[in-house]
This record gives sequence, structure tokens and C-alpha cells, in this order.
Amino acid sequence: MASSTSKVPVAQADTFPDGTTDHVPLRKKTYDLRKPHITDQPITWANWYQHVNWLNTYFIVMVPMVGLISSYWVSLQLKTAIFAVAYYFFAGLGITAGYHRLWAHSSYKASLPLKIFLAAGGAAAVEGSARWWSSLHRSHHRYTDTEKDPYSVRKGLLYSHIGWMVMKQNPRRIGRTDITDLNDDAVVVWQHRNYLKSVLTMAIIVPILVCGLGWGDYWGGFVYGGILRIFFIQQATFCVNSLAHWLGDQPFDDRNSPRDHVITALVTLGEGYHNFHHEFPSDFRNAIEWWQYDPTKWFIWTMKQLGLAYNLKTFPQNEIEKGRVQQQQKKLDQKRSTLDWGIPLESLPVVSWDDFVEESKNGKAWIAIAGVIHDVGKFIADHPGGKALISSAIGKDATAVFNGGVYSHSNAAHNLLSTMRVGVLRGGCEVEIWKRAQSENKDVNAVTDSSGQRIVRAGDQITRIGRPITTADTA
Ligand SMILES: [Zn+2]
Ligand SMILES: [Zn+2]
Repeated sequence: MASSTSKVPVAQADTFPDGTTDHVPLRKKTYDLRKPHITDQPITWANWYQHVNWLNTYFIVMVPMVGLISSYWVSLQLKTAIFAVAYYFFAGLGITAGYHRLWAHSSYKASLPLKIFLAAGGAAAVEGSARWWSSLHRSHHRYTDTEKDPYSVRKGLLYSHIGWMVMKQNPRRIGRTDITDLNDDAVVVWQHRNYLKSVLTMAIIVPILVCGLGWGDYWGGFVYGGILRIFFIQQATFCVNSLAHWLGDQPFDDRNSPRDHVITALVTLGEGYHNFHHEFPSDFRNAIEWWQYDPTKWFIWTMKQLGLAYNLKTFPQNEIEKGRVQQQQKKLDQKRSTLDWGIPLESLPVVSWDDFVEESKNGKAWIAIAGVIHDVGKFIADHPGGKALISSAIGKDATAVFNGGVYSHSNAAHNLLSTMRVGVLRGGCEVEIWKRAQSENKDVNAVTDSSGQRIVRAGDQITRIGRPITTADTA
């Protein structure tokens, strides 16, 4: 007896023309990946129906229509309504806590009874088998926003919501992922092999029987507990692929489309903190703040208290905060790059002291501060300290006067002054030495951001000298 007999048998992996293999082995034997796929041809009036995935279209478009129409003849009873809402949450958790966080991301481990409960809930939501769903979802995470992303929002909001299901997809296009762990999961494989039976039972027969045997409302169970409830849960969870990649903030990374928004969270049982989720996909939480709406997280936590779930994974808070700070820094850098910080010192002409004095005599309103020459001509009339003081500094070195000799200017004043730079003095103390070092490519203490923009911190302007000068005489 080989020990492998205890494992669920799995068919051979497909081999693609490029030699790579794929772990989607449960498709029909007659299917030949080497034949041209319909999606290789453009959609025309003659072939459009071949592009449509009719089975999916039937389940997610036509059946709900039948439900909507039948609701005209079947009135909604209170007990049926309460059941439909409860069953909605059951099916929703099957997708969010089961398909998504347990099977696609392995963010926790579940005991057998919980797995069966979640697989049953997932079947009641009619969104494909857990195996199919998780495989695609792993591709989505691995190839987010690219051509290999099965529901890329770059192809339009409607495509990411529903288009990718009602239109056929070329299986060769979708990014491949490893699902060997799912093939080893007996519940997943059983549900995949018995998918249609599971769906019929959980999505339709159970609601009919509960409402019918419970309070005699067989038709209500079918229309509200079954069809319309399926429609709502499908549309809600599809929002994770569409709305969560379109609406909201990006507190952790803005290179790709995933976003955080409370509305998406409300619609999707807490899957709305999708920017966080794409950064930390194996975290069993989507919302990390206690006040954010994530009932799926609360459900998993409750299952842990009941001993049905274990090994709940969380990312260290230190790593989460690092990501958040880096994104904030990036935003800050983008904002800083839009502001005028004055001409960089290395781009300014070098002016001798004599030329500086000469130009000032010839009508230029030049003032030297800490070796940098500033043209204050346009500012004299606006000087908060009055025209007389600023005019008296023209043609002079006002380093001490500006730094406390007469008035210890504010950080804002130093910032404003830097926008008036026109040159640096030859031999002008540190500035020219700094400039020379810069041109000789020596290490200089210039702080730059990731895109090479210089950062001028408050109080660190070149015109600011270390110790405030208290009397004008010291200059
Ligand atoms: Zn996503
Ligand atoms: Zn995910």
C-alpha cells in the first residue's frame, strides 16, 4: 500500500507550448491548449456569441433577471426576508473568509468542520469552485494590473466587475500560479468535483426547504432566499475586483490600483481595505484599526475562540507602519517638488565682492547673507520690518543683521529669502567651499529625496547661521 493513496487523486498538469506547466488539471480531457482560442479573434457580428461564456452569463445575468421578474408575483414575507439576509452573510463569508482569506491566501488554518461550512457557503454564493476562484485570485495578486491579471481594472471598471466572467478568457493569457496546496485539500477538491451539485443544493434547494418547511413559503425561499440573494451576494463580492481597485485612498503603496474605502468595506463584508490587503495579503485582517468595518476578520477571530480556526497570520505592526511612512514620504516628496525652493546654489553664478558692491551701487537691490547674494528689489515695499531697514542693507553683508543682529528672522523668512537668490560670493564663507566640493563631486551634506530633489528642512536653510547673533557689533 503506497502512502500516497491517502491523498486526493489529481490529474496531470497541462503542458503549454512554451514548455511551462499549469496547475489547472481538472479541465475536460478533450480540451486542447494548442488549438487557437476564440479570444485570438476579434469580436464580430458573426462570432460574438462564441466570445460569450454562456454558462457564467446564465448564472450571473439571466437567472437574476428571472428572479427580479418573478418577485412581481411572489410577495416577500418577513421571516423569508430575515432568512435571506442571514443566508446572504453565510454565503458572503464563504467567499471572504473561505475562498479568499483561507484558500487563496492561507492567512489562517481551519478545522474540517469550518472548512465544510465555508465551502458550503461559497457554493451558496455561486461564484465558481473554491479551487477555480483561488487560483484566479492568486494570479490577480501576482500580476495585478497587467495583461495576466484575470480581472485587471486597467481594462475598465465594468470589465473588472463582471466582463471578465461573461466573456470568454484565453486560459493561456492568465498568469499561472501554484495551487498544489489546494489540490491537497480534500474539501477543496471535493467541492470542485461536485460543484454543480453543491451549488444546486446550497444556493437553491436549502433556501426553498428552509422557508418552505419552516413557514410554508416555498416560492419566497426560491425567489428571495435563492435567486435574488445570489444576485446581491455576487454583485457585492464582485466589487472587490472593481470598486476596491477604483475608489479610495492608497495609504501603503500607490504604484498599483488597489485602494481602501469604507463603502467598499461595507459592501464586501470588510474586504474594502484593499490597498492594505495587496501589500499584506497573508494577513487574516483587511482592516487593522478596531473601528474599521471588517466582519470577516471578526468572524475568523470568533472561530479561533471556538477552537475552529488557528494559526491566524498578522504582519508585524512595525512593517505595516514602515510601509505607511514610506508612502507618506512619497506624497510629501511629490508635493515638495511642486514648490519653489529657490535656484540651487550650484546653478548660481559666482560673483566677486567688488562686483557685488559695484552692481549694488548701479541700482541692483542686492544683499549678501551667509555668502549668498539675494535680489530684494521686488520685496522692499512688502518688507514687514519696513523699507528703511532692508534698504540700508543693500550692497552689504547682512548675515548678522538678518540672523538676530537686528531681527532674528523666522523660518518662513529664510524660505522666502531663498527664492530671491541670484548669486554666491567668491570666498563667501562656507557657500563657495560647499559649491566647489559639489562641482568636484565630493561628498556634500545635501539631503535629497528618492527622486534626487534637495530637501531643505526647517531651520536648515543656508542663510541661517548656527547661533543667533545678539548684537550687530559682532558682525
Ligand atoms: Zn485586488
Ligand atoms: Zn486577495
